[in-house]
Amino acid sequence: MERVDVELIKCFEQLIKNSSRSIVLVPHMNPDGDAMGSVLGLWRVLKNAGYLVKIVSPTKYPEFYHWMDGHDEVIIHSHHPKQSAKALDESDLLICMDFNQLSRLGDMKSLVEGYKGKKILIDHHPYPGSFTDLVISEISYSSTAELIFSVLQSTDFVRYIDQNAATSFFTGIMTDTGSFDFNISNPNTFEVAAQLTRMGIDQLDIHSKVYDNYSVDRMRLMGFCLSNRMTVYPEYHTASIYITLEDQKAFNFKTGDNEGFVNMPLSIKGIVFCALFTEKEKYIKASFRSKGQFAVNEVSEKYFSGGGHRNAAGGELYASLTETLAQFEKILPEFEDRIKQSIK
Ligand code: 5GP
Ligand code: MN
Repeated sequence: MERVDVELIKCFEQLIKNSSRSIVLVPHMNPDGDAMGSVLGLWRVLKNAGYLVKIVSPTKYPEFYHWMDGHDEVIIHSHHPKQSAKALDESDLLICMDFNQLSRLGDMKSLVEGYKGKKILIDHHPYPGSFTDLVISEISYSSTAELIFSVLQSTDFVRYIDQNAATSFFTGIMTDTGSFDFNISNPNTFEVAAQLTRMGIDQLDIHSKVYDNYSVDRMRLMGFCLSNRMTVYPEYHTASIYITLEDQKAFNFKTGDNEGFVNMPLSIKGIVFCALFTEKEKYIKASFRSKGQFAVNEVSEKYFSGGGHRNAAGGELYASLTETLAQFEKILPEFEDRIKQSIK
């Protein structure tokens, strides 16, 4: 079952043990359930082991994760830049989780770039950058949460994984796999889920807290988008959804309110590729999902300055929404053959 190099795990353990016991954990900007589950789970384990651990997130994260153990101690860099810089200054080990490039830190990039202590990267995205002293990057793991749990199991820290940490790790795996629906390429995901369940987590409660915790506004926005903002391209087995700034205003949009929208068209018979374009003040945030072999990270890398995994990727385009939608339609013929190979 061991899929991470033993030497890397030893090095990971040693870097933590060699630290002055002050450690900072950093997820990517606009952190999702996996990024938060990974940092909060590791935070709990290292805290249980007697370390002084802080989490600094580049930006805030959706309210439906605000129940998680330790969430109220997370320092948000975009709101508290001085406190964030102080936390980094006072530590000598920084662990980056669930991202592969410094650009995923947004405005916090320079702070991490100029960090004086040792740095570790724990991630499951392809093409990890070399901005840390140690890189543990394994794309065969469903989530960073599954990866860090597996790594911890081979260290002395295993005894500090309690029910709270297990709950955070399970949240990460559950959200990155869409409740065990995608991103699973190895039975280890289910083995880890079973182990976490044996540690006493309440998986129904976790699911309910994340997925049955939406606002009325979000629910209505979802219905509105499906009715008025979705385009289906049957010849390309593709569908796209967009959300304008005006739509966001009309439905009192809050961070995370569009989470999961991108997956919805994949439930349409014959659709294997879909996109969500969310208008922001200065750019368009793009999200892509696919079924099967069609690699959406290639679409995102080539046309949307982004990246991600084969079946889930994202990026940004500094253009208008109209231009973005036109660009998307224009590139579909280029990917037609590869999209069709995904149809079973
Ligand atoms: P989402 O569509 O949920 O924002 O992201 C899906 C996947 O693509 C995630 O694994 C995320 O890390 C990656 N991703 C999202 N946005 C970006 C981006 O702007 N740049 C890169 N490199 N990856 C992204
Ligand atoms: Mn992830």
